[in-house]
Amino acid sequence: MEKDFKEKYERIKNTFIPDIPYSEELSEGEKKLDDKLTRIKKEADALYTVNDPYGIVEWYDEEDIHTELYQFCYALPKGGDLHAHDNTMISYDRFEQIIKEYAYISLNGDTKGMLYTKFSSDLPEDAISINEALGKGILSQKELGQMLVMNDGTEENGYWARLEQLFSATGDFYNDVSIMEKIWEEGFRSCVERGVMLVEVRDWGVEDDVLNMIRIRTLREAYYRVKKEHPDFLVRLIGCSGKDEGTTVESSCEVLRSYIRVSKLVKDDFDPDNAEDFIIGLDLANEEDVSKPLGDFAEFLMSDEVRDSGLKLYLHCGESLRRDNNSVVDAYIMKTRRAGHALNMYRFPQLMKEYAGKHIAVEVCLMSNYRLGYVRDLRLHPGLQYMISGIPIVLCSDDGLFMARAPMVDDFYSAILCWDLNLGDIKALCRNSIIYSGLSETERNRLMKAWENCWDEFIREQNKKLN
Ligand SMILES: [Zn+2]
Repeated sequence: MEKDFKEKYERIKNTFIPDIPYSEELSEGEKKLDDKLTRIKKEADALYTVNDPYGIVEWYDEEDIHTELYQFCYALPKGGDLHAHDNTMISYDRFEQIIKEYAYISLNGDTKGMLYTKFSSDLPEDAISINEALGKGILSQKELGQMLVMNDGTEENGYWARLEQLFSATGDFYNDVSIMEKIWEEGFRSCVERGVMLVEVRDWGVEDDVLNMIRIRTLREAYYRVKKEHPDFLVRLIGCSGKDEGTTVESSCEVLRSYIRVSKLVKDDFDPDNAEDFIIGLDLANEEDVSKPLGDFAEFLMSDEVRDSGLKLYLHCGESLRRDNNSVVDAYIMKTRRAGHALNMYRFPQLMKEYAGKHIAVEVCLMSNYRLGYVRDLRLHPGLQYMISGIPIVLCSDDGLFMARAPMVDDFYSAILCWDLNLGDIKALCRNSIIYSGLSETERNRLMKAWENCWDEFIREQNKKLN
């Protein structure tokens, strides 16, 4: 009797406990690894006290990065990073190597923490080469790092003000194509190292075809050099314009028009017999709560000019917690291919059904959302609810350089720990990043095969490594 009751009770209870609907079925080897994953998650979990931000790896925390879970996340073949910005996809350690070689830093007054190239017209008299400052002990490596990343305690004027400060601190480089070429090349190399096989880069453009061409061709050169070493590696560009107070609707649309023209001229012709589109889409970004609403751009983004261009929309939207921000609705009406952030979509349950039904993927950027103060406890991040509701999500790094010690690695680490993901969920997330990429069908199939090989190898290696 008692046993019957228990079974019946459990059966009723289980009907209310959801799985992630697109979680992957596991093979025997994967099930074995999944058991080990449960153990290493418990061990990582035990490192956090009630006062720590849960599931976050701090910049200088050696203990966290030596956990088996962090190493697992590092080695994980992640597929694609579908939301990374051009100048910040590099990991901080690689970035530091470059600036040590090329940059001068101001250590005093209003310009403290600003970086300069040797030839900068703004170079303050007391600026010192970083290598020299480190060598003489005027600056420690830790102090340098703290000046150049989003770090708890450094955002006293607001999270976005801090991010703007970081962009202006590194802004001098953006005008120097030869330094940027190194930053991009090392950025791509660091992606490969972190298990990322495809990057869809949001490229920040201007209203000038020639300047856009020079920058994009340089970025493509950097990509080709890394592709020579790693033939499966792929980069695609999403042309991006601003929408903040420094722009007008017309000027932003002009930038996007330039991308439409340049997209016809710059292809991925690494294999000249099988050239593919290099620029695949358009987007608009900036802090949403103080920028023009996405709806202001509807007429242009839904025009024949955009539709016939062959470029798809990959729109930032809903990077906000506010009720009056309904850009996720705008992006849906405009037929966005994916939604960048869609953080406040939990406010629109009807829309969530549409995103799930039409398989519109959401680019979830956990570390960025954490560092920019939107979600300070990632266990409560709505991305998990989107997954359970059947909305395809992909994990992305956004401005990884400023947000995480190892972009994508930290994002996966936080998701696995904070959302308590199993191996089937993780496999689905990696696969999503290829399925919902902007690649052509041929490229997508080829990348999926390459990823599957890496995945199988990963399962074998991890099973060997972990007890
Ligand atoms: Zn972004």
